[in-house]
Amino acid sequence: METRNDEVICLFQDKVSELLLKHRSILDSISKHAESAVRVNRAITKSVTGCGCISVNARKQQIPAEISFEDCRKYMVTHIEGVLCENCKETIEEEIGNHLFYLTALCHLLDFKLDDVLHKEYERINALGHFHLL
Ligand SMILES: [Zn+2]
Repeated sequence: METRNDEVICLFQDKVSELLLKHRSILDSISKHAESAVRVNRAITKSVTGCGCISVNARKQQIPAEISFEDCRKYMVTHIEGVLCENCKETIEEEIGNHLFYLTALCHLLDFKLDDVLHKEYERINALGHFHLL
């Protein structure tokens, strides 16, 4: 069954393939994909070290010994303090979008349908539950 999200994903992939003139080579897309991932991480880092709207207070996760795997979530923390300001949120969102562009470019060049990949991954994590991260 097609949903509106599927349509957006297909339209997005079509548009990316249209715009892939400059980075037609798989090598260009691989390097742009890696670079865009770094830019996402850099934007998050700048929110901490440049803007300061969020900070990171990290330490070892404190999980009681006798606890079910499902209950672990209650004790796991993100190590993020604060909330992204509108500026940082906008910047990070743009970088994530750019990263998605190059991920989609890789899908296109290797003849994967992004919506198929997402559906298969959804089914996989749905079937594996918490165990997909082990
Ligand atoms: Zn900020």
